[in-house]
Amino acid sequence: MKRVLRRAADRIRVESTGPATVAPCDELAAATGPDPEARTPGVCEECTELDEQNWAHLRICLTCGHVGCCDSSPHRHATAHFEQTGHPVMRSHEPGESWRWCYRHAEMG
Ligand SMILES: [Zn+2]
Ligand SMILES: [Zn+2]
Ligand SMILES: [Zn+2]
Repeated sequence: MKRVLRRAADRIRVESTGPATVAPCDELAAATGPDPEARTPGVCEECTELDEQNWAHLRICLTCGHVGCCDSSPHRHATAHFEQTGHPVMRSHEPGESWRWCYRHAEMG
């Protein structure tokens, strides 16, 4: 008579070998559709209203298409837009760049 050996595999535990914790970001996961059209293509909306053009980089809001300047710029209108509207995900509006950023989770995706 054969004994059925209970193998360790019966109680396999998933040990985490990857990055310790990956914060789930619903916003980045949800923002898969086509990007909205830029409201002010190639320029920061608020800087243009101020008649200034001394931003460093531009970011586009993936909720409404607002284009704002980055945190290396004097006015940081992209971050200001998030704080005012709660729109969490932006994409780089720089030529050749397509990375996205979730302000809420401070996560790139
Ligand atoms: Zn997020
Ligand atoms: Zn600006
Ligand atoms: Zn927006």
